[in-house]
Amino acid sequence: MKCAQIGIAVVSLLLGFSQIAQAADGADLTLSEAQARKARLSQIKYQLNVNLPDKGETYSGTQHIDFELSDIRKPLRLDFFGGKVRSMELNGRRLPKTAQKKDFILLPVAALKTGINSINIDYTAKYSHQSQGLSQFVDPETKETFLFSQFESFDANRFMPCFDQPDLRASLSLSVEAPASWQVVSTTRETSLQATKEKRRVWTFPATPPLATYLFSLHAGPFKVWQDQFDGIPLRIFARPSMAKYIPVEDWFRWTKNGLKFYNDYFAFKYPFKKYDQLILPELPDAMENVAAVTFSEEMFPRSKATRPQGRLQAETLLHEMAHMWFGDVVTMSWWQDLWLNESFASFMSALALLKATEFNEAWQHFFVEFKAWGYREDEMLTRHAIEAPIPSVRESNAIYDGITYGKGAGSLKQLWAYMGPEKFQQGLREYIQTYAFQNANLDQFVAILQKYSSSDLKQWTDRWLKQVGTDLLEVQWKCDGQELKEIKILTKVFPGTVYRPQGVDVALVDSPADKPTVVHAQLEAPQSHIRGNWSCPNFVYPNFNDNGYAQVQFDPASLEWVKKNLAKIQDPLLRLQIWNDLWASVRAAEFTLPAYVKVVMDQFPQETDPMVLQAVVTTISGRPGPNGGTVLEYWTPGAKRDEFLGQMEELYLRRLKEAQNGGDEQKFWFESFTSIAQSHMALAKVNEWAHGKNLPAGMDLNLDQRWMLTRQLMRFEWTGANLLALNLKKEDPSDRGQEGAIAAEAIEPNLKVKSKWVNILKVNKLKLSNQQANSAFYSLFPLEQRGLAQRFAADFYKYLNANGNSENEDLVKSFAETMNPLNCRRQESEPLRQFLSRNREKFSPTVQKSLLNGLQEDERCQKIRAAAGMSVSGNAVAQ
Ligand SMILES: [Zn+2]
Repeated sequence: MKCAQIGIAVVSLLLGFSQIAQAADGADLTLSEAQARKARLSQIKYQLNVNLPDKGETYSGTQHIDFELSDIRKPLRLDFFGGKVRSMELNGRRLPKTAQKKDFILLPVAALKTGINSINIDYTAKYSHQSQGLSQFVDPETKETFLFSQFESFDANRFMPCFDQPDLRASLSLSVEAPASWQVVSTTRETSLQATKEKRRVWTFPATPPLATYLFSLHAGPFKVWQDQFDGIPLRIFARPSMAKYIPVEDWFRWTKNGLKFYNDYFAFKYPFKKYDQLILPELPDAMENVAAVTFSEEMFPRSKATRPQGRLQAETLLHEMAHMWFGDVVTMSWWQDLWLNESFASFMSALALLKATEFNEAWQHFFVEFKAWGYREDEMLTRHAIEAPIPSVRESNAIYDGITYGKGAGSLKQLWAYMGPEKFQQGLREYIQTYAFQNANLDQFVAILQKYSSSDLKQWTDRWLKQVGTDLLEVQWKCDGQELKEIKILTKVFPGTVYRPQGVDVALVDSPADKPTVVHAQLEAPQSHIRGNWSCPNFVYPNFNDNGYAQVQFDPASLEWVKKNLAKIQDPLLRLQIWNDLWASVRAAEFTLPAYVKVVMDQFPQETDPMVLQAVVTTISGRPGPNGGTVLEYWTPGAKRDEFLGQMEELYLRRLKEAQNGGDEQKFWFESFTSIAQSHMALAKVNEWAHGKNLPAGMDLNLDQRWMLTRQLMRFEWTGANLLALNLKKEDPSDRGQEGAIAAEAIEPNLKVKSKWVNILKVNKLKLSNQQANSAFYSLFPLEQRGLAQRFAADFYKYLNANGNSENEDLVKSFAETMNPLNCRRQESEPLRQFLSRNREKFSPTVQKSLLNGLQEDERCQKIRAAAGMSVSGNAVAQ
């Protein structure tokens, strides 16, 4: 899976308030249950027939399962959540209805036998609207129905009765009856297609190779299809007809072919699945590596030509999922504690592939921003965990699709890659894939193979890098002797409670910012490393050049002074990104004050030109606040000085917009950044003009998504006429995105009546909103300057959590917890939440607990940052 780390999180369909309170807590499977089942079960074969009506809320299926059992002393659990069994039969014996329990079917000892067993189950199930199991989406414009599956981690059993754990590999033969106008896509390519009466067709898909259940899939609907081929492998892309014009089909096929070629060569193991389908889908939050039928979220596609950063993200996501075909699909983890091995590898490999197989040569900068920086941020949280951490039950795994599993894991692999050397690393991977193809493997088996190619002790590397938490700090000490530098001392400040982690780094000695630095490789084997040589005296020393090491950098005083004056002039954009990130991390650690950071912004940022650095710094100034890193505007106590800074940023963004090339990516970037920061009368007046299509920057062609962005910003500050604008736009854009835009624009209005209305809608879901629609409201309800209004709903917030903290709908509750909390960088709100959590948090699901704890820690961090800057902590709430 590719997690959407920033932006809208995964949210489930809103059930009613009372419904949620009564809803079953999430289905779960413990590691010990899974291990016991694995010990007695083998040779599993599923033969499933599914009947998909053209509309309605339910579908039906008949499942035939053959499996071999070695031990019949205990009943056997067959996972099946949410569906309804109409009849079932085990080894020819009819089973009573009572064999179906809340989350599974319990096969009784009396009907089991050693050797081959057979089950037949006739069932119905409801479509999901929360991307769990088989989801349904009805296009509001065309009324067409689309179905898609999402089974990771434990949701194949919402679709069909099965033994749903990664090491119980099985084959699936499938037949699907569906409306004749639909395309049906699954793991294998159909071998027959037969018309039946009443405009329906039956698709027959032959048996898959033995796969983990979470990697099966089924997608159906009146898709538009594009076809191509690579090396005898048929390639197809599927999308809704109404989205077709926004899909860059040529680019996708090119990246696909180049990617397959790259991975075939890199792993010396040819793509084995005979076809490669990719589907672009509405209401799917992320992307998913279903074998040979990969799915992607439509969210990645703007309703106009993609900018380079958008294209890069599309290509990287495509290559991430493709890497999983080898890492995850051919070789699968045994249990969810090795999720990182899947995700970190896919994330790291996609950077290599991006560099070699696409036009995006800024792959390492992308890797830094999307993965390493995410890892560092997550590692700052008290909810941090080791990369390889015990996962006692599958539900716990839902809480670790995070910056550690993806970002820090991938960063550690980059470090191992540099530590072993790229060639040895590749040889090890090749042997690993060949050895465990179509089997499951765990960390020890992985390391045992890599060890053959390394003279370093990889067992020690694993214990220290993968099983310990936290980020170490690197500091360089250096002093020139006249014009010469003869020794560099690198100190590693080991994260408290951990054992030293060795790593190899490149040290940059920078003389003039415009020149290439002198690079010295250092193998750091102890907390103090001395590197001796004879170099001309530098002005600035950086201990993690090229970003191979995993550590935050603490600047020595001389280097910090130099950085403050020269940052924008440094030649290497990756180094600039790293430095900005280090500075922001020290603000967050309350070591570098907010005003000091703002001064660097004012001095250095205006001259910056690299798009990725611009994006990264704008995110620290005015990005979306929240647990993913905070912003200057969030941390700064409201008042005249903050307003002055905000005004300066509005001017700066507007100036950069005017200077940007007509119709180019940079113009779009500043246009959108300015729109989202606009708060003064001058700035909002400009936004209002643009929203009416007047005085647009030359060459700018507004798309519907941007028009919603403008409208939402005007609604946020109650601009006269904004309501009418929203109403007209809603008529003009009746698509699902238009509906979401309209919800966001309404919910953001700073008006107690509007807020009450939406809080009530979200609590009881009167409107039966889809997951994505609910999110549009959640993430618009209380923007920064409206946090005071959120406090009015504190009682609802606590009541809701008490009732729903352990709901099966944990993604929805997570959104609620993140956006509806009363926190506002003041102790008077954070303290009650702290006390509430100390009394109640054990009752909540792991995902919800983590979200609340992160929110609380971020709020307390905000208070510390204000205190360190001498700002008022008890500050006044801005909104009424
Ligand atoms: Zn993934």
